[in-house]
This record gives sequence, structure tokens and C-alpha cells, in this order.
Amino acid sequence: MRKIGIMGGTFNPIHVGHLMLAQWAMEEQDLDEIWFIPTGYSYMKEEQNVVSPEDRFQMVLLAVADNDRMCCLDVEIKREGYTYSYETIEQLKKEYPEDEFYFIFGADCLFAIETWRCPEKIFANCRVIAAGRGGASEKQMREKIEELEVKYGADIIMMPFPSLAISSTLIRERVREGKNVRYLVPDLVADYIEGKRFYENEG
Ligand code: NAP
Repeated sequence: MRKIGIMGGTFNPIHVGHLMLAQWAMEEQDLDEIWFIPTGYSYMKEEQNVVSPEDRFQMVLLAVADNDRMCCLDVEIKREGYTYSYETIEQLKKEYPEDEFYFIFGADCLFAIETWRCPEKIFANCRVIAAGRGGASEKQMREKIEELEVKYGADIIMMPFPSLAISSTLIRERVREGKNVRYLVPDLVADYIEGKRFYENEG
């Protein structure tokens, strides 16, 4: 049985915060591999300026190319219509029944997950690793975890993680302002963004 960490995300674009979270979870929770899964079309992000699923997938591929314990799956970008995490987790469980899946995510997802489609099916098919960013929010996270465990029988691991004020929004803003995003994203991703002139004219 392998222990597989799932890093789902819009990744618009992927940045060092995502990569560091994945690496951290792999080491702290003794995972064998990390599978990045870029979202297809999200009903929650319809209004926002999100580059195509294929391009976000390409950027993740480039970001993990030099790490043989990380890979990027196209299961969500290939799915018709909106994508829901519970479908992805169910699909993975069916295809890889021997493996144990750990859905890795940050604090915001922990508080939002009940607004997602069928959270009970997510909790039934995987464990969750929630990255705690320390400070005052830690108490609230612990309370939320307890609530989800009681309500859904969820199995959630709170993983302390250094607070990194890096986000995809920050990257997009810097590109729009004509600033360099080197060291915030892998070099190959920075080149891809520049080559495709993404985020330069966002409204
Ligand atoms: P994202 O913005 O690309 O971020 C991916 C993950 O990285 C999130 O968990 C995020 O934590 C974390 N992260 C980003 N920057 C970080 C930093 N500096 N330090 C620590 N963690 C950081 O992806 P997203 O749009 O939130 O989507 C995340 C997952 O939720 C995806 O798998 C998506 O499919 C799923 N989702 C599912 C549904 C549904 O099924 N209905 C609805 C919405 C989202 P935060 O949570 O703290 O931002």
C-alpha cells in the first residue's frame, strides 16, 4: 500500500507555496508520492480570470518535472463540465484500491469544504492533511477539525506549516505590474507565463 498525497488546486499559476506544502506533507506524514491535480472548470471560479485548464496543467507539469516523487494528473482537466473533488477521490479509490489517499490543503479549504459538493464522500474516501499556519487561527482550525470529525467521521491531520504570504493572486498582480516573479514560481513556469503573456492585462 502506497501513501499518496493529493494536491488539488486551481494553480493559476502554481507557485513555491504549493510546492513547499507538498514537500512538507510528504516528509512530515511519510507519504510515498504527491499527485498534483489541477482543476478543470470550477463553478466557484467562473467569474474569475483563470487561464485554460490545459495551460495550468502544463505549468504544474513543468513545476514537478525534476521531482520523481511528484507528478501531475489530468483527470480533472479531461472531465466534462464542472469538476468536483469528491468525484476525483472516488475515481482514484476505484482505480487504485490498494493505496491510501491523503488530500492536502490549506486552512481556507478546511473552512470551505462544507460548501463543496458531497464533502461526506471526500471524507469517506481519504484522510485529510490540513496545513496550519500558526498564530490565532490554529485554535479555530482545531475546533473546525473536531467539528468535521464528529459530523462526518472525517480523519483530519493538522500539520503545522510555516506561514508564507505567497499566493497565485500575488503572482498575477506582480506580472500585471510588469514585475519579475522569479523565485516565486519555478523558472520554467516563469518562462511559460512570459512566453504566453499570461496575466499581463488582467482586469
Ligand atoms: P489553489 O488556490 O490553487 O490552492 C491549492 C492549495 O494550496 C489550497 O489548499 C491552498 O490553501 C494551498 N495554498 C496556496 N498557497 C499557500 C501558501 N502560501 N501556504 C500554504 N498553503 C497554500 O486551489 P483552490 O482553488 O483553493 O482549490 C483547492 C482544492 O479545492 C482543489 O482540489 C479544488 O478542486 C477543491 N475544491 C473543490 C470544490 C468542490 O468539490 N465543490 C470546490 C472548491 C474547491 P488555502 O485553502 O488556504 O487557500
